[in-house]
Amino acid sequence: MTPTLLNNKKSKVKEYLKINGDGIPVDPFLIAEKLGITVREAEFNSDRISGMIENNHGKVTIYIRGSDSASRKRFTLAHELGHYALHMNNDNTFVDGYEIFERSDFSNYTDRQKEKEANNFAADLLMPAERVKKMWPECLYSKELMAAKFKVSLQAMDIRLSMLGLV
Ligand SMILES: [Zn+2]
Repeated sequence: MTPTLLNNKKSKVKEYLKINGDGIPVDPFLIAEKLGITVREAEFNSDRISGMIENNHGKVTIYIRGSDSASRKRFTLAHELGHYALHMNNDNTFVDGYEIFERSDFSNYTDRQKEKEANNFAADLLMPAERVKKMWPECLYSKELMAAKFKVSLQAMDIRLSMLGLV
């Protein structure tokens, strides 16, 4: 990530967390609503797809897979908010007008740069570093309890804890 994008990311995460307020779990649905983004549940033709964001001449809609678990929906939405924050062109559109989030992109090890950035953004948003560090001992170092508190999957929490050097 270039320094400019990194700074942009930090300030956008901060801005979105301000919209959310201090509450944990963070509510990406509330943040999307306040940003004027429509969120719709959908089923996709391919079960490899978890979500997509569409920008129709400035009217932004995020679609998330309706049959996914609540924690997964939250991550998908936060991921798409990451694209919204970081990857719009100067004219406020995506290259193709939309972006698709595939399940294969969910991994922390995806080699697609923008997908990695959107996943990191989602992790920063749903699991703010300071809150995670503070709650880790309070949750008696239980990954399951942490995942439940932050309403994320165990896998997402696991990756987050290791990225923050806590495990
Ligand atoms: Zn994506």
